Amino acid sequence: MITFRDLAGVPVHYDRYPKESGFGYGTRGKPLPFKGEGAFIEALDRAMTEVLAAVPASFGAAEVITSAGAYVSKPGYHGLGRAFDLDGIFFAGKEFVTLNFPSDMQFYIGVEAVLRKHFGTILNYDYDLAHRDHFHIDNGSSVGWNKVSKSRVCFLQNALNQCFGAGIQVDGAYGPETEKALKLTLEDLGIGTIGVPANWLTFLDRTAAAAFKLA
Ligand SMILES: [Zn+2]
Repeated sequence: MITFRDLAGVPVHYDRYPKESGFGYGTRGKPLPFKGEGAFIEALDRAMTEVLAAVPASFGAAEVITSAGAYVSKPGYHGLGRAFDLDGIFFAGKEFVTLNFPSDMQFYIGVEAVLRKHFGTILNYDYDLAHRDHFHIDNGSSVGWNKVSKSRVCFLQNALNQCFGAGIQVDGAYGPETEKALKLTLEDLGIGTIGVPANWLTFLDRTAAAAFKLA
C-alpha cells in the first residue's frame, strides 16, 4: 500500500466532512493522505493525466481533485486498495461535481469516456442511487465493451444520446433500440464493432472528443 496526496500533479482532497464544516460534498474539501495499492494508483495517475489533457484548455488549469476515499478497511476493492471514489474536479474556471450529472452531462461523459480507457469498472450516476455522487473506479474487470454490465450500458446509452444525437432510453439494458443506435453511430464514425478492444478505445476517444466539444 502506498500513500498519495495528488494525482496527475493535482492535489486530491477529501470532501466528505460534515456539511457545516464547510468541507462537505461539493466543496473543494481538504488535503488528506490517501492510500492505495501501487499499481492501481499508478494507473489512476495515468488515467487522470489523460482526463486533464482531454478537457478543453478554456476551463483553465485543474486545481483540486475531490474524493470520498481510496483504501478503506472494508470488503471489496476498496479493502484491497484497488478502488477510488472520484467526487469531482475543480478547475480555475469550472467546477465539475459528479452529482451535477443531470445539468452537466457532456462533461461527465467526457470524463467517464477517458476513465474507461484505463479501467473496466466504473460505477456511475445511472448505475444506482449510491453512485450518483461519485464515480467508483476499480481495476476488478478488464477494459473493454461488455453488453451485460449495467454501468457500461448506461454509459453507452448516455454517450449515444448526449454526444451522437440518439434518443434512446437510459435503462442499463442492452436491447434492440440500443443496438440499432449504436450500429448507426459506429457507421457514421467509421468504427467497427466495439467488441474488438481497439475499436472500443477508438469509440471512447471519439466520445470524449465529442463530449468535451459540447460541454
Ligand atoms: Zn467506491
